[in-house]
Amino acid sequence: MPEDRTVDDFIRSSAGRQVILLGCAAALASMIAYMLRFELDAQLRANDGPGVTVFLAVVNIVGLASFIYAGLRVRDFRNEALRRRQAAERANHIATHDHLTRLPNRYALERFDVTGMAGPNAEMTIGKVTVFAIDLDGFKKVNDLAGHRGGDLLLVEIARRLSAFTQRGCIFRLGGDEFLAVASGLPPEKEEKFASMLIHALTRPVQAGDMMVQVGASVGYARWPEHATAFAEVCHLADVALYEAKKHGPNRTMLFERGMLERVSARARLENRLRRAVEDDRITCHYQPLIDLKTGDICGFEALARWQDESGTMISPQLFISLAEEIGLITPLFEQLLAKACREAAGWPDTIRLSFNLSPLQLEDRMLVERIGKILQVTGLDPARLEMEITENALMTEPELAETLIRGFRLLGIQVSLDDFGTGYSSLAQLARFQFDKIKLDKSLVPKNLAEGREAKIVKAMLGLGKSLNVAMTIEGLEEHSQLAYFLAEGCDIGQGYLFGRPMPAEAALAYIAERQHTRDVA
Ligand code: C2E
Ligand code: MG
Ligand code: MG
Repeated sequence: MPEDRTVDDFIRSSAGRQVILLGCAAALASMIAYMLRFELDAQLRANDGPGVTVFLAVVNIVGLASFIYAGLRVRDFRNEALRRRQAAERANHIATHDHLTRLPNRYALERFDVTGMAGPNAEMTIGKVTVFAIDLDGFKKVNDLAGHRGGDLLLVEIARRLSAFTQRGCIFRLGGDEFLAVASGLPPEKEEKFASMLIHALTRPVQAGDMMVQVGASVGYARWPEHATAFAEVCHLADVALYEAKKHGPNRTMLFERGMLERVSARARLENRLRRAVEDDRITCHYQPLIDLKTGDICGFEALARWQDESGTMISPQLFISLAEEIGLITPLFEQLLAKACREAAGWPDTIRLSFNLSPLQLEDRMLVERIGKILQVTGLDPARLEMEITENALMTEPELAETLIRGFRLLGIQVSLDDFGTGYSSLAQLARFQFDKIKLDKSLVPKNLAEGREAKIVKAMLGLGKSLNVAMTIEGLEEHSQLAYFLAEGCDIGQGYLFGRPMPAEAALAYIAERQHTRDVA
């Protein structure tokens, strides 16, 4: 086929046309010479003068020159064809390889011929090809810490380590920090070991420029053709297993199982429903009162997102907020809810604040302060009446971003509170580093045994810490009067919990305010 193509290309090229033309001209001249041979012969005999000799010499020279010219053209053409073939090979290599790590890319994977892996021992190999989908954990942090150059160095080193595991052309880089390895002939008990070895190799520290960095890795794997006959489908199933592995914590390996598909499709259905709910603006806020323990006044309401899907099922905010984060919906959802809450809060008395939760991923949004500022402007809520709640764990993962964000909030006049204190690392260093207006002790800190015990002592110490830092302390999850009395006696400033009221819709919150006002007036 390439040979035919070369001849064909040659005939179509200008060199080819010229050579053919010359050939035709030579053939025509030969024919004429042949037809005139008797005439010429007679002429030569009759006239042996220089005219005819010169004429014959010219014909010979022209013929030779044409021959040389044709030869040169043929050589030019061959060189040109070679250059073209090399350029096409280069273009193909660029299209099928990642420029940074030089590994084959997703496009190469699409064209990967798994049957080619069988080699001479096809019988033994078929049925034993395993696809390992690999994803790094914490790669983004390396980029932030060591810069993009550091991130690149890490990826190149990861590619080098991976390449040591399987034959050439069987490690792919599919995107950012996603890789895929194809291995053949591994018996089931060795697959798990192989996956663990991959993790072990990838999680060793890497020298990235002048600093050492380290990432985690998750691996999901599936078998061809046991799990699916189409190789592309096996890659997808390995990805499904990877998703499960990631969910179960860092540095996990997981073999694909059919049950995973049901979980993935349930998630995909929930994802679609969530997209529609956000599009149709069907997620609302409920409001839970925050009570000043010394005066008994309402000092604020915490907005808590509520989603009742089409079937009437209430879906937990923890579930749909993290899903919204994963699928890139957190910003539109946040903007919708905050705008709604600000509008509703603008109708409350000025002394009542609105508390609003920020999800960890939002700390990375460099436009967040501007976004909130715009919403406050449009809804007319005074920034001094808004309080953003940031969880401890979010601060721990992105301390630099959190610092900038908190500074931005303060400049706008927005208050900041540390939410769920006591559930995460409870680092005292955080309290020194960030300037909070409030600290909310998590409901899990409400001691079971109020009278004595270590729990009670810890809570007491935390409340004392707040006092010495001059930060107002809130206790969440108050359900009983005894608990209220305890925190009141310990000098806690604000209380929140079912004892004062469950999260309620906006109209109920208005009625709650009116009723409390009425009780006060009567008293
Ligand atoms: P959180 O910010 O700590 O909110 C307090 C949670 O405790 C709420 O759960 C509330 O209903 C519950 N709670 C309040 N008082 C009591 C009590 O006395 N006893 C018990 N057992 N629980 C009580 P909810 O509404 O399910 O929200 C859970 C979490 O979801 C919130 O925890 C918050 O982290 C997150 N969340 C809710 N709405 C939003 C939102 O709009 N944006 C973001 N980013 N996160 C939200
Ligand atoms: Mg909160
Ligand atoms: Mg909380």
